[in-house]
Amino acid sequence: MTEAQLINFFYNHFFSVGGLFTFMLGCCIGSFLNVVIWRLPLGMSLSVPGSHCPKCSTEIKLYDNIPIIGWLVLRGKCRACKTSISPRYLVIETITGIMWLCVMFAGRHYQLPLSQVLLALIASSILIAASLTDIETRTIPIQLIYFGIACAFILALAFPNSQLLSSQHSLFEIQANYSILDGFPPRLRSLFHCLFNVSIAYSFMYLCAKLGRKVFGSHTIECEPPVQVILRKDNCQAEGDDPLAWKEILSEKDEKIRFHTCDKQVVEVNRQGKSTKDGLDYKIDPEQKIFINKLTFPSAVIGGGDLSLITLCAAFIGIQGALVSLGFASLLGMIYLIISKKEAKMTQRAIPFAPFIAIFAWSWILLWPLYIEQIRYLVALLKS
Ligand SMILES: [Zn+2]
Repeated sequence: MTEAQLINFFYNHFFSVGGLFTFMLGCCIGSFLNVVIWRLPLGMSLSVPGSHCPKCSTEIKLYDNIPIIGWLVLRGKCRACKTSISPRYLVIETITGIMWLCVMFAGRHYQLPLSQVLLALIASSILIAASLTDIETRTIPIQLIYFGIACAFILALAFPNSQLLSSQHSLFEIQANYSILDGFPPRLRSLFHCLFNVSIAYSFMYLCAKLGRKVFGSHTIECEPPVQVILRKDNCQAEGDDPLAWKEILSEKDEKIRFHTCDKQVVEVNRQGKSTKDGLDYKIDPEQKIFINKLTFPSAVIGGGDLSLITLCAAFIGIQGALVSLGFASLLGMIYLIISKKEAKMTQRAIPFAPFIAIFAWSWILLWPLYIEQIRYLVALLKS
């Protein structure tokens, strides 16, 4: 049986029964994602301890842990202590199930190889986990990114067809590079293709992040009333806040944070904790207390998490899918930022950006021919 016949057989005979199975499996993965979203940012193990109530620590029985049904039977309350369980669990399980089902439908519609569908299912799941951790903690655990890229590489090597979604119908015809590898076995070619996508996306995002810092420079917050800040060799601490390490606030060697004191002096500190006051050396070891009414710090246009998420998207849906997702996500993100009128804090972006990227990356998986058609149409329109 050839692969095409196998695909046909699967979609024609297995699909009717497989739909429900896919949804259920998706819900189970959603249930696991709940664990990932909760534990990964805290650096906890994903397997030990087993599921338990966060309030009374009672272990959750296997039958109460059945996705969706478990939550509904218990009506969102712990069986032992009746503490309510967040509806988030139910929502994530359901959404993951529906996403998995949609990906299967898209696979049948485009007659995609099963290895490509598998890659799309992994992509959908990681996009959910990345979005939710970004919403809750404003970071994307790097393990998620490594895991996703490793999956893409392994699938590219094992099933050259898994790279189909990112290699077919190229928008920018960058796959011309591909022909250099004509004599190589398909496995190596698809692995190279995946590597190419990942490295181009990473380099592009890295340059954008650098350029963003140069162009948009810094961000200023006014402190009214003035705030007392304690400066130390390794960190600073605003009144009533936890200490923040210089390395957390400043990501580049040549960056500085600027404190404008109430007596109209400017204290500058760099990533190493080296400081100046009005341009002269200023000793903050062991600590100095200052009152400030203004604070200037470098603004990160592209966070490290966004950089790695776009790189991951390139491994899943190719460089063109990743860049289109980034473009639309930036547009929607900017509109949302203007509407919500949120301000960036010292170590936090104003809004989580991963969900915006995820929405478009996922819609690319389902609707890529539509995207490509529209963009080609636009390009033709601009040319004429
Ligand atoms: Zn309990």
